[in-house]
Amino acid sequence: MQAKIDAFMEEVRARNAHEPEFLQAVQEVAETVIPYIASQEIYNGKNILLRMVEPERAIQFRVPWVDDKGEIHVNRGYRIQMNSAIGPYKGGLRFHPTVTMSVLKFLAFEQVFKNSLTTLPMGGGKGGSDFDPKGKSDDEIMRFCHSFMSELFRHIGPNTDVPAGDIGVGGREIGFLFGMYRKMRNEFTGVLTGKGLSWGGSKIRPEATGYGTVYFAQNMLDTKGESFDGKTVVISGSGNVAQYAAEKATQLGAKVVTLSDSSGFIYDKDGIDADKLAFVMELKNVKRGRIHEYCDKYPSAEFHKGKTPWGIKCDIALPCATQNELNGDDAKTLMDNGCMCVSEGANMPSTPEAMHAFQKAKILFAPGKASNAGGVATSGLEMTQNSLRFNWTRAEVDEKLTQIMADIHASCVEYGTEDDGSVDYVKGANIAGFVKVADAMLAQGV
Ligand code: GLU
Repeated sequence: MQAKIDAFMEEVRARNAHEPEFLQAVQEVAETVIPYIASQEIYNGKNILLRMVEPERAIQFRVPWVDDKGEIHVNRGYRIQMNSAIGPYKGGLRFHPTVTMSVLKFLAFEQVFKNSLTTLPMGGGKGGSDFDPKGKSDDEIMRFCHSFMSELFRHIGPNTDVPAGDIGVGGREIGFLFGMYRKMRNEFTGVLTGKGLSWGGSKIRPEATGYGTVYFAQNMLDTKGESFDGKTVVISGSGNVAQYAAEKATQLGAKVVTLSDSSGFIYDKDGIDADKLAFVMELKNVKRGRIHEYCDKYPSAEFHKGKTPWGIKCDIALPCATQNELNGDDAKTLMDNGCMCVSEGANMPSTPEAMHAFQKAKILFAPGKASNAGGVATSGLEMTQNSLRFNWTRAEVDEKLTQIMADIHASCVEYGTEDDGSVDYVKGANIAGFVKVADAMLAQGV
């Protein structure tokens, strides 16, 4: 079997030689899906996985914009339309200086499996730019978003491709992007998700990725007779995902002790309660400040400059920052300190070494494509509400999100249960996500 996986990866590597993040994401899927394909007659000889790793379309474009001083800048814009076998392309836009074709292809590839797992009819895509929103004025952000959309609009649409937010793209950016789309097309449609509540957005969408990550962990803990109540939780990141993961974990009786950003992490041994979290949300979302400013307001907290929070003793870890933020040594430290559950809020935050260490130790470990799918699932619910020209209540959306996360958990258990009764959620998520897309592709022909 290993020879089959190696041969497949060699072929993928030959075509994507300088795309390490993409190859990492494909390797993880290949390790679990290739043995499954070999065991299923219907997939034999169809080269189905090789077809899935090639984007249906990859668009790259120029994004010129003018800063507040009148200087002209040029960034690179992308949209990867990975797979539309089960629905319109769906996935976020990331604005960050680390954005490359490789990063977006890995994210688009993951998105295909994630969206399939949600049970909603959404294909997979991802886009973004190497533009750095940090330190930019609202006007500069607006001019950049307008320029970006003045090209992207011709490639997307409510039945074609529906972008949303990701790192560096939140409510403000979605507003500017939607404004330009509406102007270019002269139509009001649900073409972006994460919209404001007064213009087509869904209740719970901002909360959904973080809440969903905690709901997924809750489902995993439940299989062991455990819960969040009384547990210590370590969270990385301090953006949208981390904030609402912290909120939900706290509501469920846990004590969240860390948050982070690219300059380091804060450790508050007393716990980041609802009031302190409200301060973080104001600091990050309105003032666009840095996480170390938390310690100016709450001097009992410590700031650990340049460090990640994985050395802090905890029961549950929620990596909610970015890819490859938790390595093999971190995984060992977490487990040596008694961590029993890791639910990924970010996309691919664990390196392959970390992931393999969690799998080997058989602790509860959920890959992002399963555990953070609540965000895109609620985007799917936003699309449904837009099509219905109707809005569901907060309770209705939360109930649907809760059910979707439970269903994703059940799919992972169905496809990931091992002979000894333990569940490999990586294997479960990859195979369950694969089956639906592969069956659609087979039905539709080459
Ligand atoms: N960027 C989010 C993700 O990684 C959400 C995508 C969406 O809502 O379309 O799944």
